[in-house]
Amino acid sequence: MPLTKHVASEPHIPPRPAHEGPHKPVSAVCVYCGASFGRDPAYLEAALALGRAFAGAGLRLVYGGGDVGLMGSIARAVIDAGGHVTGIIPGFLRDREVMLTEVNELIVTKDMHERKRLMFEHADAFVAMPGGIGTLEEVVEMMTWSQLGQHDKPIVLFDVRGFWQPLVSLIDHMRNEAFIRPQNEIRFHVESDPEKLVALLRSSAPKPGDAAVLKRM
Ligand code: AMP
Repeated sequence: MPLTKHVASEPHIPPRPAHEGPHKPVSAVCVYCGASFGRDPAYLEAALALGRAFAGAGLRLVYGGGDVGLMGSIARAVIDAGGHVTGIIPGFLRDREVMLTEVNELIVTKDMHERKRLMFEHADAFVAMPGGIGTLEEVVEMMTWSQLGQHDKPIVLFDVRGFWQPLVSLIDHMRNEAFIRPQNEIRFHVESDPEKLVALLRSSAPKPGDAAVLKRM
C-alpha cells in the first residue's frame, strides 16, 4: 500500500477527546535540536528564526543547555532577541556540549534521565528541530508518553525543508501495518514555518474560564 504523503503544515493530530479537557496554556517550549548544524544552511536559518519568534511571542525556551550546533544557535537567538532561556544539561556534557552560561536559568543534572525529566516538567509543549538520533530519541519519547496518556502537551515537528517527512512516512507505515492502533493514535503537528509554528503553540491556550487539565508522569 502506498504511503500517504503529507504536506508540511498538515496537522497530524486526531480530534482531542472532550473528556480530556483543554491544554495548559503554552508559555515554555522545550526544543529538541541537533548538536550539529546539518548540511543545509536552511537549518541554521530556521533555528534563528524560531528563536526570534519565541522571544517575540514571549515563549520561554527550554533546551539542552549546550552551545553547539542548532541547539546553541536557537538559544543565542532567543537571548539576543530579549527572550528567556532555561538550559538543562547533565554534568558530564558540560564540556563536550560547551555549556552556555549566558542563559537566564541553568540547571545541571546528575544524568541524562534527570535532564529529560526536568525538560519534560519545565515545558508545556515540545518542538523538534532537525537533528540526529539524540533529537529523534527525545521527540519520539514524548510521542510515546503522549500515546500512553501520560501527558497531552502539544508536540510539533519543525519540518525545515521536509526534514521530518521520513519519520512521518514511517509512522504512516506503522499505522498502515496496524502497529499503531486507532485508540492509541499519536498526536503531533508538522509545521515548516516558524511564525505559524508559534501561532499554533499559542492557539493551544485554553479560553478564559476553561480549567487546565494536565496529567503528570
Ligand atoms: P543529536 O540530535 O544526535 O545531535 O543530539 C542532540 C542532543 O540530544 C545531544 O546534544 C544530546 O544532548 C542529546 N542526546 C543525545 N542522545 C540522547 C539520548 N539518548 N536521549 C536524550 N538526549 C540525547
